[in-house]
Amino acid sequence: MTTAEIVSIGTELLMGEIVDTNAYYLASSLRSLGLEVRQVTQVGDDVERICEVLERSLARSTVIVTTGGLGPTADDLTREAVARVMAQELTVDRDMLASIEAYFRERGMAMPPANVKQAWVIPSATAIHNARGTAPAWWTERGGRVIVSLPGVPAEMTYLWEKEIAPRLKARFPGSVIITRTIKTFGLGEAAVGEKVQHLFGRQNPYLGIYAKPDGIHLRLIAKAATEEEARRVIAPVEAEICQALGPLVWGFDEETPEGSAGALIRERGLSLAVMESCTGGLLASTITDVPGSSDYFRGGVVSYTNEAKVSAGVDPALIEAHGAVSPQVAEAMAEAARRRLKADLGIGVTGVAGPSSLEGKPPGTVYIGLAWDGGSRAVSVRYLPQRAFVKRRATVQALLELVRLIKESANKS
Ligand code: ATP
Repeated sequence: MTTAEIVSIGTELLMGEIVDTNAYYLASSLRSLGLEVRQVTQVGDDVERICEVLERSLARSTVIVTTGGLGPTADDLTREAVARVMAQELTVDRDMLASIEAYFRERGMAMPPANVKQAWVIPSATAIHNARGTAPAWWTERGGRVIVSLPGVPAEMTYLWEKEIAPRLKARFPGSVIITRTIKTFGLGEAAVGEKVQHLFGRQNPYLGIYAKPDGIHLRLIAKAATEEEARRVIAPVEAEICQALGPLVWGFDEETPEGSAGALIRERGLSLAVMESCTGGLLASTITDVPGSSDYFRGGVVSYTNEAKVSAGVDPALIEAHGAVSPQVAEAMAEAARRRLKADLGIGVTGVAGPSSLEGKPPGTVYIGLAWDGGSRAVSVRYLPQRAFVKRRATVQALLELVRLIKESANKS
């Protein structure tokens, strides 16, 4: 398998001023091209250290992708470092210089003299025009090994990667492809989910990994094969086995989100939704409306933070009096009141203790999620880690996934 490395260049990275999102993007893109990423290195704007990193990477791996350090200023040193590693002289590429001058001219500006260095090349490098900025990428070869140098600005980097570099790498290093399939579950912890599919761990192809995420436990299958079709064939039977073992715990796949899945089901069934939330403070309504087109089925929501607000939104004060505002009875009543007041088919009510202090004798992290529909209601009680932001996020995710479960159950019954 062709090996690859990523080198992120920039002192800003080492100072903790920016997050290396370029490496994150490239690691996943390289993998999907079938290249095996062996190492990611961050290095400051220092030509000696960049050369040292490049020499080591070239000794280990076939493809080295660098980002950053292609700007016009004195601390942009990637070109100098690659030239030094290749032991070649930098010269100005007249065509590239003309295109950089044109870039400035089109914007009504004269090119600052410093930008001339962006037109530099060496004999073993091909400069690749950057339609999104002034820094061309470089594709440099030595003894069957390739250094790809990309600008640091993420929008320019991803543009050049998709349009220019990924197709070239695919043509230059044909071979296996790697695909992944993520199966998303909710309702059991990591150990319990792992136990149900224990016999599938330890294989190489497809490889199975398990990860705890804010929306539950994810199982990720990674398959390698000569073609994408073949890789999908490697994944299919194992995916089916996992889904069989986990049953209704599985709520989605790959890029699906709780709000997206809930929205798609509500739309599919021709239903509508309203919410009343207390401890999530509006996060639930906000998350539901992250989905484009949610206005088709989301009627609206009420943030009823106090008991008075709950009562004025339609919750029976006697229920609050009898059970407390943080109770399954009130969660159900909130769901029903939201549904009724906003003329929706489905209602969600969320009440709980975000913390840090207890409320009505209930410890922080206690949450009740009520669901109401035409002809019934129910509530789920949960206890999260008592951290405010975590409780709000987790309750939002769970409320949406409880709704997904309810709609799927009712479909199975009918
Ligand atoms: P420019 O021509 O714009 O100067 P460059 O190739 O010289 O591009 P840098 O100067 O190293 O790139 O970085 C420009 C900006 O791009 C940084 O300030 C930062 O905002 C972003 N950036 C650089 N490297 C990364 C990275 N690894 N991950 C995410 N963002 C990055």
